[in-house]
Formats: sequence, C-alpha cells, structure tokens
Amino acid sequence: MTDLLQQLNDVQRKAVQTTSGPVMVLAGAGSGKTRVITYRIAYLIEHERVAPHQILALTFTNKAAREMRDRIDDLLYPGSTRGLWIGTFHSIFARLLRNYIHLIGYTSNFSIYDADDSKSLIKQVMKELGISTDSVPVNTVQGIISRAKNSFIMPAEFQRDASDYNQQKAAKVYEVYARKLRENNALDFDDLLIKPLELFDKSPELLESLQDYFRYILIDEYQDTNRAQYLVAKRLAAKHRNIFVVGDDAQSIYSWRGADITNILNFQDDYQDTAVFKLVENYRSTRTILRAANGVISRNRRQIEKELVSHRDDGEPLFLLESFNEKREADKVGEHIQSLKMLHGYDYRQMAVFYRTNAQSRVMEDVLRIHRIPYRIFGSVSFYKRKEIKDAVAYLRFIVNDQDSESLLRIINFPPRKIGQASIVKLREYADARGVSLYEAIRNAPDGGFQTRLLNALKGFVSMIEQLKMIAEEGTVYDVLSNLYELSGITSLLQAENTPESLTRYENLQELLSMARDFSDHNQGANGLNEFLNDISLATDYDETPESENYVSLMTVHAAKGLEFPVVFITGLEEKLFPLNCYEPEELEEERRLFYVALTRAEERLFLSWSKSRYHYGQPQVCMRSSFVDEIDSEIVMTEGGRSLSDAPLRQRDDGGGYAGRFNGRPAVPEAVRGRGGSAPAASSESDGLRKGVRVHHAMFGPGEVLSVQGRGEQRKARIRFRTAGEKTLMVQYAKLNIV
Ligand code: ATP
Ligand code: MG
Repeated sequence: MTDLLQQLNDVQRKAVQTTSGPVMVLAGAGSGKTRVITYRIAYLIEHERVAPHQILALTFTNKAAREMRDRIDDLLYPGSTRGLWIGTFHSIFARLLRNYIHLIGYTSNFSIYDADDSKSLIKQVMKELGISTDSVPVNTVQGIISRAKNSFIMPAEFQRDASDYNQQKAAKVYEVYARKLRENNALDFDDLLIKPLELFDKSPELLESLQDYFRYILIDEYQDTNRAQYLVAKRLAAKHRNIFVVGDDAQSIYSWRGADITNILNFQDDYQDTAVFKLVENYRSTRTILRAANGVISRNRRQIEKELVSHRDDGEPLFLLESFNEKREADKVGEHIQSLKMLHGYDYRQMAVFYRTNAQSRVMEDVLRIHRIPYRIFGSVSFYKRKEIKDAVAYLRFIVNDQDSESLLRIINFPPRKIGQASIVKLREYADARGVSLYEAIRNAPDGGFQTRLLNALKGFVSMIEQLKMIAEEGTVYDVLSNLYELSGITSLLQAENTPESLTRYENLQELLSMARDFSDHNQGANGLNEFLNDISLATDYDETPESENYVSLMTVHAAKGLEFPVVFITGLEEKLFPLNCYEPEELEEERRLFYVALTRAEERLFLSWSKSRYHYGQPQVCMRSSFVDEIDSEIVMTEGGRSLSDAPLRQRDDGGGYAGRFNGRPAVPEAVRGRGGSAPAASSESDGLRKGVRVHHAMFGPGEVLSVQGRGEQRKARIRFRTAGEKTLMVQYAKLNIV
C-alpha cells in the first residue's frame, strides 16, 4: 500500500486519502487529476476495504473507463476491479435503466437510438408534419429538442413558450418525436440521462436503495457535465455525500453540447463542506509548452486563477509552420513526422495531428498515405455508423424489441422483399387505426384485406423474425447474427452484387460477426444480445482501436481531451477556422479554451501550423494566421527559417525546403511525386508500392502481409494475410491500406 501512495505528490496523496465527504480537485492540465481518481479507487478498494461494486466512477469516454480499470488492476492485482461500476454516464445509466425502467412504463428490452437514429426519426416526423427541412434544418430541430430535453422542458411546456419560428416548428416535432420514441420502446441519448431522474421521482424507494448502494461516486472531466448529469450525480450522492469530482474550468469545451461550466464553479455552493485540492505541478509538458499554454489561457476573463508549473525542463521551442495551401501544410506535417522518427527516434504512436474541424482530415489523410505514414483517424465515420452495420444492428434490435418500428422500417424491405413504400403506408394506417405496433399490424395483416402477393411477402418476413427470436432465446449473439445473415440473405446479396463497394460491406459484416463471436466467448449471460447492443449503441467515436498499434493519431481537438502525446501538430491555425467564427466574446473564450486543451496535450514537441489559403465550400480562400498564435510569447516560437518568431520578418517565405530541409538533412520532396490533386498522379495508381511480401496496416483488420495483388485500376485486389483477422481479399481502392 505504501507503494501506491509513494507514486503521488503530497497534495495528490491528500486528495486520495480524504475519502469521506465531498471533495473537489480543481487543477490545470496534466497535473494528475485523472491519476488521482485512479489511485483513489485503488486506495478505497485496497486500504479502506470498500467493495468494488459500491464505487461508481464516471468517465468521459468508454476508452478512458477501460484504461482506468486496467490501470487499477495493474496497481492492485488482476481482477481487483471486478464489480466496479465504471463507464460513461450513458453506459452506466443504460445499465441501470435495463433493471428498473419498467417502473416508468418501458420494458427492459428498450432500444437505444444514437444521434443518427434520432435524426432520421426527426426527419421522418418532419415529413409527416409537412415541415420542410429547407425551412428549418434537421440539425437545428434536433439541437433544439435536445436542449429542451436536457433542461427538462416537456413538449407541452415547450410548445407554450416557443418564441421564434424555428422553436415553434421544433416544438411540434418534439411532441410527435417523444411519442414515437415511447411507442417504439426506445430511448435516445438524452433520455439515458433524463429517465433516471424520472425514475427517482417515481420511486423514492429505488433512489434510496441506489444511494445506499453507491457509497462512493467519482467523476472525471467534471467541467463538461451537463445539467442532467449534474442532477443525477447529486441525487445519487445525497445520502453518503462521498462525491469526488475533478476538473479544470479552463478545459470546458462542450458548452455547444449542453455542458454547463457552472456545475464546477458552483460545486462548493452545493456542498459547503467541500475539501478543495489544487494541484500545481504539471508532469506532462516541458516548461516551454506550459509557458505557451499559460500565456494563452490567461487572456480569458472568465476563469478561476490557477497556478501550473512544469515538473520538466525547458525542452524545445515551439515550431511554427507556414504553407501556401492545405496540401502543402499536410506535406510538411508528413515530412516532420518522418524526420522525427528517423532522426529523433519517435515512434508513430507518439505523434498526433489535431485539427479544429473533421473536414480537415481528408487532405491530411491523403498526404500521409502518400508519405506511407500509418495513421489512424479518431472520430470520423465510425465502424458502427456504416450502412451495412446499421442494417444488421436494426435487425438485432428488432429481434429483442419488436415494438421498435424505426428498426422495422429499416429492415422490412432490406434485402428487397417487394414490400413497397405504398404498402408500408397502408400498413401503418392499419396499425394506427387499431392502436397497435407496426409489427402487430403485419402479423394481423391477413385480416386486413391486403393483396396476396404482399401477404406472402409479409408472411415470409414474420416467419424469419420469429425464428430468429427463438434462436435469441436459446443461443448466443453469434448464433443469432450468423443465422440472421443466412436467413435474411443480406450477405449473399452483397456477394452477388460483386462490386468493390459491396465486397467491402460484406467484409464489414464479417467483422461484426467476429465481434459477436468474441463477445459470445466472453459473455455467457442470458441477457447477451441486449448487452451486445448496449455496447454497440454506446460506442463513441473516440473509443476504437487497439492501443498497441504503431500509428500516428489524427483527431479533432475535442477528441483529444484527456490524452497526451510526446509530439503534437496543431494544424489549420487560421482566423475563422481556429478560432472558428465567433460572434460573442464567450464563444471566443471557448475557442481559446479549446486551443489551451490542444497545447496542453503535448509532452515534448509542439508544432503550430497554418496555411495562407484553404478550400472552403469548394472555393480557395485567402487565410490570415490565427490570432491565437500571437498570444504565445514569440520568443519561444521558432519559425522555419530557424529564427524565433520575435525576430522573424513580418512575411515569411514559404519555400517548402527551408526548415524541413535543414531539419532532416534532405531536400524537400518535389511536388510531382507527392501526388493527389492538381497535376500530380493519383494515389490509386499502380506505383503505390503494393506488392507481394509488403507489410500493410488496415484500419480495422490491423497489420498483415500482402500475399498477392491482381487486376488494375478500380478492379485492383490484394490478398492479405492479417495477423489476427486471417486471410482476406480486399479492393485496394476502398481498403485504405497503409504500407508499414
Ligand atoms: P488533463 O487535464 O489533461 O486531463 P490530468 O490532470 O488528468 O490532465 P493526468 O493525465 O492524470 O493529468 O496526468 C498527466 C501525466 O502526468 C500522466 O502521464 C501522469 O501519469 C503523470 N503524473 C501525474 N502525477 C504524477 C506523479 N505524482 N508522478 C509522476 N507522474 C505523474
Ligand atoms: Mg485527465
């Protein structure tokens, strides 16, 4: 035990050992807040002999939860965290709701709709109500509804108070949307946070038993909790009051998603006897990086004063990269990555490239591929959002919850069963007239006077679903999924289509099947399918990837929260991009906090990059360097000419060779071979180096070796033996292979 505490500084140790009553750790980036939570859980289990199931730890991503659990297992002994409640608010409350939601009129097999599902439901409701998406965009309606829900404003109340045009339209949609969710026995993401509160109101006995059960509650990244999260935590902690939160107001970056910075600012008002700990030592970044970050954040007016000093030495200056367009910018990043690897011994996995908006990733990705740099994008279209995966998941959801008409609509005529749109409309009318679910209507269709051809198609569908339901009762998730592929004909349809795209989709479905097998091997419980669906619905964009792979990480700054990398590139540092268009002073302050988050991810080397022009909506635009760059003390910023920014001439020459040339001792790569866009050759040409024996990396299947390559152009296929996923033939054009 003494060992555990010796790995902490004095203040951290006190925060870990103050185990009863409300505690807040308020401290800057990299000061060990997450470490304190981890050690505190270990301490509670080991020293205070608290049973793991009495501890509830809430993290910002599933990945963070997994890492924390692994770390505690390392600190104590393998399996020591068994029973511990650790996860995101969404995943923990989905679990709780499965047990108790019957108290508020749902059944435990409810479906969880992710943001895309709920968007398509909203779209459909708008269509039904005759509200054109040209007059109010779906995203706007979705945002308004979500904010209303998070503020606990019910549809009727919202409708009464709706002031402007958008709100009035959204109010109408909100009412029908909420009704449909309930009819479908489905919850959207907001419901996962709100329904527990409804449950607590409905059943004070349940609340009391949960309060007894969770003796210790710990929350990371508290500055980004929203009102619902705040209330749930507060109510659960009301009895024992052992609530421990850590956060940094300077890193609050999710107000656009409803996060409420006042939660952290007012914590002490809620809990007058709060013990507050301030950590001042930063263990992550060099003194220079910290000086830059502190200088920037000190310009924000609204903040709690915090001290943060580096535990490390001065380190390298920051490097400023200036390019004439975004392609050249990406090129420079690629060149630096290669030279950092070759000359300074950094691994790819130690480097990360950040950007403000997801759209910026494409150019970066294209160029890194040409540089043969293995990379991994976090938070782009995730595996679970692909069409074929959503189709298969809709089948699974429907098998567990046949009230889920959204999922039913997705699968009823996929693969095609000659059940047309007009028939579906009639069936829905039939269902509405009888007040039954759509599936119930389909099952009763023979009494409804429908045409024989349609009845036959419906009969086939019903018999398949009923068969799958039976398999679900007895068998594993793997059994259900493999039978589903077989009986529905999804996979044979894709194989028969035999286009590069359909084959990639086929591969993705096979990947889902492997995941189901893996899940079935590890989870024998009766509730398997529900839990499998929970995991899938709640996977966030930031959760993927095995950690051990050696690739450069590409992500938005939002996705980088809580992470750290020895080398960081912040790209697109231009006015109106980073900071993004700001209309209010508060918006600029939030952008600045975001920039602070970006800077403080870096441990050793930090590159700031901007481009003098960039495509916006298909048009090249002239760009100005971000004012954020000027907020950093120019003495610690080195330009490509090898001078500090403070004595560089006002206009830097962008010669492509300059700093990069000196840095890696080789001339810059001529433009023509860097490829993509303009007159350069396309990356899909046969000169990409893909041939027998070459080792490659695939985003999903991981590392592998090329066995053979056949065909040309779009028809080019590679047979690859993957280390874990086995042999596969992939279309080169779609497979996005990286040569390693
Ligand atoms: P952020 O605000 O970015 O979330 P944080 O405050 O949660 O940062 P951690 O991620 O917990 O900070 O810690 C930053 C780094 O410093 C980690 O690599 C961590 O292991 C290390 N660290 C923290 N405290 C100590 C310590 N007492 N001794 C050695 N290393 C430490
Ligand atoms: Mg942290």
